[in-house]
Amino acid sequence: MQEVIYLDYNATAPMLPAVKDAIVELAGRALNPSSIHSSGRFARKIMEEARGKILKSVNAKNLVFCGSASEANNFALAQSAGLLISAIEHESIYKSAADSVTIPVNTSGIIDLEALKKLLSQTATKNPQLISVMLANNETGIIQPIKQVVEIAKEYNANNNILVHTDAVQAYGRIEIDFADLGVDLMTVSSHKAGGPVGSAAFIYKNGIELKPFIKGGGQEKNKRAGTENIAAIHGFGVFAEKYQMPDAAFQNYLEEELQKLGCEVVGKNEERLPNTSCIIHPSIPASTMLMHLDSNNICVSSGSACSSGKVETSRVLQMLKVTNAQNAIRVSTGWGTTKKEIQTFIQTLDCIS
Ligand code: PLP
Repeated sequence: MQEVIYLDYNATAPMLPAVKDAIVELAGRALNPSSIHSSGRFARKIMEEARGKILKSVNAKNLVFCGSASEANNFALAQSAGLLISAIEHESIYKSAADSVTIPVNTSGIIDLEALKKLLSQTATKNPQLISVMLANNETGIIQPIKQVVEIAKEYNANNNILVHTDAVQAYGRIEIDFADLGVDLMTVSSHKAGGPVGSAAFIYKNGIELKPFIKGGGQEKNKRAGTENIAAIHGFGVFAEKYQMPDAAFQNYLEEELQKLGCEVVGKNEERLPNTSCIIHPSIPASTMLMHLDSNNICVSSGSACSSGKVETSRVLQMLKVTNAQNAIRVSTGWGTTKKEIQTFIQTLDCIS
């Protein structure tokens, strides 16, 4: 395959070399941690070591291994019948919360906390509730005020029946995450957006919460999630948790300044954002044209709009933010392997069609 310039880390990332080596070391071995023989005991040891490293990386005490972040998000929503979710959640929340109440976001891309209070005053005394708000948005990188969401939930928690969940998938490995300090009850993380493997995610929960299993069957993960664990991926996740380095915003600042010189706008420029994610609106060129041009030059970025049934639909998130020219939105997301030279080539290539 030809060398590509990969600027789509929020879709998935290349593995850190240490993670890849760790996985290769285990690949092909028979590793079922429920078996009591030596291979099984070895698998369990690997799994528990990884669990410890992941928990340490987010200052938490308990986690259930899942096969993906989508599964962990579905698991979270299965904990309650009364769901309140933000309008900008990932599809794995949005589409699995059929009867949910939506918490609006303002045009800055931040959850509307006054609207949340209003919704809770209408609903808090009825069903048990679960509030799910992501820590950082996958399309814009905008960070949400989760601690304030928790404070508000506590204020309305007279019946002690509100759980707060945060989807921290895009934040993990990119900004500091302290589960205890955030104060949430449940959290989803996975590592494949930042250099860990696909195939393992962590559903993190506070002490004392009785989880209802989402996948039922065998007694794995103390009866909380059935299914034989993916030990190689879990091991890779654990190595990631120990080895990752957070990106600094230098590349992002450079990229955005250069693109602004070309007349592009950066969504949420003045908001607190992930240091690796830039949602860029071109003043005149549709995303599809930019993507084709970039792709033919071996540069991978993603569109801010979704393609379905042959037509480009403006993203739900950008609609919420009332972004003008949302059809011209592309998402550039960087990571551990990105170099300044790659960013320069990307800018020059985009400039050629401007
Ligand atoms: N949550 C967020 C914020 C995401 O961006 C994604 C993937 O893009 C997911 C959840 C789901 O992750 P996965 O596809 O690994 O299950």
